[in-house]
Amino acid sequence: MQVEDFHGRRLLSREVDGNEHYFTESKYKVVDAVTLKRKQVYCNRCSQRTPLQEAKINESCYYCPHCLLLGRCDNLQQLYLFEQPKGQERRVKYCWEGQLTVLQQRISSELSEQSGQHLVWAVTGSGKTEMLYESIRKTLEKGNRVAIASPRIDVCQELYLRLVNVFPEETIGLLHGKAKEPYRYSSVVICTTHQLYRFYQAFALLVVDEVDAFPFVGDLGLNYAVRTALQPSGKLIYLSATPDDRLLKKSRTTMAIHQLALRFHQRLLPEPSLLFWNKWASRCLHPRKNRPLRRLIHELIKENHVLLFCPSIQLMEQLENQLKNQLSCRIVSASSKDERRSQKVQSMREQQYDLFLTTMILERGVTFERISVIVLGADHPVFSKSSLVQIAGRADRKGGFTNSQVYFLYEEKTLAIAKACKEIKQMNRKGKAQRDEMRLL
Ligand SMILES: [Zn+2]
Repeated sequence: MQVEDFHGRRLLSREVDGNEHYFTESKYKVVDAVTLKRKQVYCNRCSQRTPLQEAKINESCYYCPHCLLLGRCDNLQQLYLFEQPKGQERRVKYCWEGQLTVLQQRISSELSEQSGQHLVWAVTGSGKTEMLYESIRKTLEKGNRVAIASPRIDVCQELYLRLVNVFPEETIGLLHGKAKEPYRYSSVVICTTHQLYRFYQAFALLVVDEVDAFPFVGDLGLNYAVRTALQPSGKLIYLSATPDDRLLKKSRTTMAIHQLALRFHQRLLPEPSLLFWNKWASRCLHPRKNRPLRRLIHELIKENHVLLFCPSIQLMEQLENQLKNQLSCRIVSASSKDERRSQKVQSMREQQYDLFLTTMILERGVTFERISVIVLGADHPVFSKSSLVQIAGRADRKGGFTNSQVYFLYEEKTLAIAKACKEIKQMNRKGKAQRDEMRLL
């Protein structure tokens, strides 16, 4: 451990006990972890209030339930807020040899030149990460720190591998609940959103990926964590492929919106075909009545591999068994409960399966080549507008044109289905316009 490990951190007394000699020279503030105001417990780590009755452990002890995931914040603890010292200008080794499209370049320059808050609204598969490199480089050159927060560990790991290659001489920390290594100071931090509770005014550039997704959306505590992990004059960039109306409304007054409607390979998004299938939930498991599904899979795997999204793990498992008896192609499944998920996803990347059954767990953050998509039961309540847009966005992300298709199977046309189709069409209209504009440049 060293003195830098405390810079820009927000830690409980329990987390610093025994290490005081490292930070005697550092500047820091100490505040109560929670305070009691009018029978409400106010948490100084996540800014949330809880009625005393719900926060009480015993007569003399109470805690904050909102941020419990990060270790109990209670009235026996204090919070140490460590200052992040001002950075020194320095040289940064930058090894990216890719090329941005004209539209990506425009957004990349705007992000790196303008301060304040930004929303990058870019379609799935448009290459969002590459547009951040310039901003990251400039921030590091000023001697400042950068953080990228994403709700998913899988996405954090993928980002980590990319940034290690682009900035080979930087210290890059990968922080999430399952990390085994102890925390060490790093100029770049890649973390799950909750980890931001442990930082205080640390970052001159903070990027929040998938700002429309759980757990970030609607969580006031996490919003507070983001605002306070950022330096007061720092730059905040939100990324989303599917911002909801509330975020867009808020963004219009408080931040610059950068829209990218065209994918990196310049093709438009595949628009979903709607396929009415009455009683899909029981028929899909019936050896004769599931013929429409088998026929569809059979057609699609002539040209591409198929991702089949199911609304529940139970249905996915039953359907996998059923289809394995009936189809002669290579079939596999993976859900959130599957410990071999990463290996299976990797094998799918290597094109070792024809049909991959899955749940919402793969709706975001994964890229396979040669993919068509089927959503079984797109009218099921687990599929929101955003998740349907994200799932449809798994098709045709990478490689040459392979006629990727997207099918939504449903028995009732829900608002989520209608809105998802409308949004994809709108983005494609905008994408066409952006493509024409690029041709003129
Ligand atoms: Zn709290």
